[in-house]
Amino acid sequence: MKENYDVIVIGSGLSGLITALTLQKKGKKVLVLEKGKLPGGVATSFMRGRFTFDVGFFGLLKYGSIENKGELYELWQRLNIDFKINMKKSLPIVFFQGNEKQEYSFPSKMDDFVLKMEEYVPNSKDSIISFFGLCEDIKEALGELENKEITEQEIQLKYPNFVQLASQKVLPVLEKLNMPKKAMELLTSVWVYFGTSIKDLSFVSFALWWDSYVHYGLSYPQQTYYDITATLQKELETLGGKVLLLEPVTEIVVVENQVTQVKTNKDTYDVNEVIASVSPAYVYEKLIPSIPEEVRQLENERLLGLSPFCIYLGLNISKEELKLPETFFLLPNTKHDETFKSLEKINNEVLLGRTYNNDENTTVLELMGFFKPDCFAKAVSKENYFAMKNMLAEHYLSLLEQEKNIEIRKYIEEMDIATPVTFARYTNSPGGTIFGYLQKGYDNILSRIMNENAENIIKGLHFCGSFSSFASDTSNTMLNGEYEANKLGKE
Ligand SMILES: Cc1cc2nc3c(=O)[nH]c(=O)nc-3n(C[C@H](O)[C@H](O)[C@H](O)COP(=O)(O)OP(=O)(O)OC[C@H]3O[C@@H](n4cnc5c(N)ncnc54)[C@H](O)[C@@H]3O)c2cc1C
Repeated sequence: MKENYDVIVIGSGLSGLITALTLQKKGKKVLVLEKGKLPGGVATSFMRGRFTFDVGFFGLLKYGSIENKGELYELWQRLNIDFKINMKKSLPIVFFQGNEKQEYSFPSKMDDFVLKMEEYVPNSKDSIISFFGLCEDIKEALGELENKEITEQEIQLKYPNFVQLASQKVLPVLEKLNMPKKAMELLTSVWVYFGTSIKDLSFVSFALWWDSYVHYGLSYPQQTYYDITATLQKELETLGGKVLLLEPVTEIVVVENQVTQVKTNKDTYDVNEVIASVSPAYVYEKLIPSIPEEVRQLENERLLGLSPFCIYLGLNISKEELKLPETFFLLPNTKHDETFKSLEKINNEVLLGRTYNNDENTTVLELMGFFKPDCFAKAVSKENYFAMKNMLAEHYLSLLEQEKNIEIRKYIEEMDIATPVTFARYTNSPGGTIFGYLQKGYDNILSRIMNENAENIIKGLHFCGSFSSFASDTSNTMLNGEYEANKLGKE
């Protein structure tokens, strides 16, 4: 006989699994419906020949260490999965091309970071210290706002800096701190990766990212990504929750503005609470036959983040011999504006890379290029897809070989490519985008947190994951899973 559930979670990506696990721990009976054949969504692993590739993130923020626990560390402890995952720190290196051919490293401890910046940009020290001070204020104020344990008046009294900065964009704040131009360029250069021009980005979002970076650095697991998601699934099932794979949701039935059922090709479930870890655009367009006009308006106002082009290479050379860092950015220059504009072109020169040992003598090299979401769709058709895919892979490989003066092609033993089309098909994300909605202008972390109840228009329909409130990157996606589950648990 078909069982009844208190909550159905759509999608078993990291956010869906963490939402489900948190709710199950709170005594709710939870079912996760997943369209794919493995749990994990984009955070997954695949094998080719003697290589194992991990997809879905290059590094995690907010982890830290046992001595200095970040929010992600604490989340994994609450979920009882921390002891099953070993994390390693990574120091990203930024390479600039062209005239500014230079290499920069960004230490992940605040004091070391300040010293390093002073070395790169003399007289930047005071402004960088003040910048990190503001970042800490913002982090604290936002934490209290999220917990909803403080009124707006109390926030105004306790965090005057936050109130002043809440509506400001990045550059005017850095200028007010008298930060030297070069230091501003270095701090803002890697931000192209998040898809928002620094001119449109709220200072709050920028500050939260840097605050996390200089407190906890960037980490990645030593197990495969599949191990992590399988651990989450197992923990959920041990507590009585259920995950059904290869069971895509085909409809969410809404009667008089209240969720009443969830349908798949195999079954219909009576349920009043659904948490979708997929994009609202997809849910409203494909899963709910008729939606209120205000939902449509809200959706139309949001903009999509970047879409990736990924190359997975199994190289027959050791990591030491390859001589590439564990995580690196290759950027055309230090000018954020120019680099950001270049993302409108399909063959731009922005590349993110990661290397890890496959075994002693072989290495995995993962490369990721980015475009604005409509850029790939405009340039690529059914007819030229194969040719464009090869052209882009050639382009990125040549770029890296030339810039770093190394040979990669001659060591390739295995190779796979994932385009925005791959990600769109795999996760149903519009345009294959991977960081949810852009934080742009007034649609930023702060406004999303302040307005989240007003945005709950259909009763019983909630969202978690990269498309909801403060999420986008992997760590926030996971933390957001718990946040959304706690909200529902309270209701
Ligand atoms: C190549 C790549 C590199 C990245 N790099 C980084 C990085 O370096 N740092 C970082 O922090 N983040 C990174 N990210 C982003 C990060 O991986 C995501 O933010 C996060 O994993 C998203 O998790 P999610 O659970 O929200 O969504 P997803 O993982 O997309 O999960 C959604 C799930 O829903 C399922 N689904 C869809 N439709 C249905 C349906 N109708 N019925 C049932 N199930 C359905 C999908 O199959 C999928 O399993 C990267 C992402 C990619 C793809």
